[in-house]
Amino acid sequence: MTYKNLINGKWLDPLSNKYTENRNPADSGDLIGLFPASAKEDVDEAVKSARKAYEKWRLVPAPRRGDVLKLVSDKLTRRKDELAFEMTREMGKVIAETKGDVQEGIDTAYYAASEGRRLFGYNAPSELPNKMNLSFRVPVGVGGFITPWNFPMAIPTWKLFPALVCGNTCVFKPAELTPKTAHTLVEIIDESLHEVLGSAYIAGVINLVHGSGSVVGEAIINHPEIDLISFTGSTNVGKRINEVAGASLKRVSLEMGGKNAQIVMNDANQELALDAVLWGAFGTTGQRCTATSRLILHEKIHDEFLAKLIERAKKLKLGYGNDKGVDVGPCVSEGQRKTVDEYVKIGLKEDKAKLVLGGEIAQEGSLTKGWFYKPTIFSGVTRNMRIAREEIFGPVLSVLKARSLEEAIDILNDTKYGLSSSIFTQDVNSAFTAVRDIKAGITYINGATIGAEAHMPFGGVKETGNGHREGGWTVYDFYTEWKAVYVDYSGKLQRAQIDNY
Ligand code: NAP
Ligand code: MG
Repeated sequence: MTYKNLINGKWLDPLSNKYTENRNPADSGDLIGLFPASAKEDVDEAVKSARKAYEKWRLVPAPRRGDVLKLVSDKLTRRKDELAFEMTREMGKVIAETKGDVQEGIDTAYYAASEGRRLFGYNAPSELPNKMNLSFRVPVGVGGFITPWNFPMAIPTWKLFPALVCGNTCVFKPAELTPKTAHTLVEIIDESLHEVLGSAYIAGVINLVHGSGSVVGEAIINHPEIDLISFTGSTNVGKRINEVAGASLKRVSLEMGGKNAQIVMNDANQELALDAVLWGAFGTTGQRCTATSRLILHEKIHDEFLAKLIERAKKLKLGYGNDKGVDVGPCVSEGQRKTVDEYVKIGLKEDKAKLVLGGEIAQEGSLTKGWFYKPTIFSGVTRNMRIAREEIFGPVLSVLKARSLEEAIDILNDTKYGLSSSIFTQDVNSAFTAVRDIKAGITYINGATIGAEAHMPFGGVKETGNGHREGGWTVYDFYTEWKAVYVDYSGKLQRAQIDNY
C-alpha cells in the first residue's frame, strides 16, 4: 500500500515521487506500507494552503471547532482497538500500551472539544470612568508540528487538538518511523472536518507532509510563513529548532530528552517500588521520554531490593507486542538497538559498574526477526558514568546507591535533564522534601516515573524543555495570543495615567 500526503484537502503523491518503506520492528519481513519522502516544495504547498485556510478557520466559532474535536474523539473511541493493533505493528510497544496511547488521544480530544466553550479571557476594571477593559485569546496562525515515534498517537494529539480548537491551522510532519498512525489520525481529523462543516468545509486546516527531519523538518522550521513550531524529540534537534526558528521570531514549544530517576528509600513499600521500576524502566522497551533510566536505592535496602529486581526482570517476556503474554517489545529500529548496544559496551568498560542482567541482543527463536534487546541492568553505577548521565532510550537501567534522602535527591538532580522523577517512601516528611527539592517538571510520590494524565501540565525543566507545557489548561497559552481591548464610552478622550493622576 502506498500512502500520500494531505495538502489543501487532497491526498497527493509527493512532488519527488519518492517513497520510503515502513516495516514492523518485531518482524522486519512485515512491510506496512510505502510513505512519501517529501521535499521542501511539498511543505511550501502545505504552508500556502494552511495560510489560506487560516483566514476562514479563525472565524469559525470556537464551540463549532470544538464539535470537530468531539467527533474526532468519538471516532478514535470506536476505532481504539484497531488503531492500537496497527500502532504496535508499526512501533513495537505492547498492545496494552498502544491502547493507552490512543486513550490519551481520546482524552485530549474531549478536553479540547469542551475547551471550545471556554477559552476564557480575563476582564479587569479600568482606571478611568466609563471605560471597559477586556482581554481575549486569539489564534496564533499557522503551526508546524514535528513529532517522535514513541507515542505516535498521543503526542501529535497533544499538539494538534488544542491548536485546532484555538483556531490555528496545521502543517504536521510525523516521525518517519510511525507514518501510518499519523496518516490514520489525520484522515480522522479531515473526515470530521467534512462531516461537521459540510458544504462549508475548509481545505488546508490540517496538512500532513511525510518525510525526513533533515528535509521536511528543516523546510518547516525555516519557513517564513509559519508562525509557531511545536516539537517533541531529542535535545539536539530541539536546540537546532530553537536557533533556526528564533531568527524569525517564531513561537517555539520544545519537549525534549530525559534521564529520569526513581528513588527507593529504606522505609518504602518495596513490592510497590518493584512494580513501578519494572514498568518505568522496561515499559515501551525503555523508549519513553519519561522512562526510568536510573534507580537510586538507599544503602540499607540496596542489596535486598536489587536481588528482587533481577529476579523479577528475568521473567519479563520479550516478543511481538500484539501476541498474548508479551511484556516487552523490540527497539523501534535497528539503529536504536545499535545505540542501546553501544551504551551497554560503554557501561561494561566502567570498572565499578557491574552488568547484572541482559546486556545483549536477544537471539532466541522468532526474536531474530526483529530489533529485540534483552532487559539490562547495571549495578554499582556512579553519577559521573556516561550510563548515568546520557539518555539511552532503550531497556537499560543504571542502579546507584545513596546514603541519605539528601544524597538521593542530589544524585537525582545531577543531570542536564529535568522531565520526570519518582520517590518511594512511607515518610511524609521525606515525600514533601522531595516534592520541594527535586528539579523536574513531574514528580511522582509512590508512583513510577511514567503515567501522565492528559489534563495535567506535561513537560520538563533544564534541557528537557523551553518553559512551555503540553496537556491540560497550560497548553492553551501556547496556542493563543492575548488581545487586550479597551472600550471607552465616556464620549471624550481619556488619557490613562495622565488625566486621572
Ligand atoms: P528526534 O530524532 O529528535 O526526532 C524527532 C522529530 O524531529 C522527528 O520527526 C524527526 O524526523 C524530526 N527531526 C529530526 N531532525 C530534524 C531537523 N533538523 N529539523 C526538524 N525536524 C527534525 O527524536 P526521536 O529519536 O524521534 O525521539 C526520541 C527523543 O524524543 C528522545 O530524546 C526522547 O526523550 C524525546 N521525547 C521527548 C518527549 C517529551 O515530551 N519530553 C516525548 C517523547 C520523546 P525523522 O526522525 O523522521 O527524520
Ligand atoms: Mg530520529
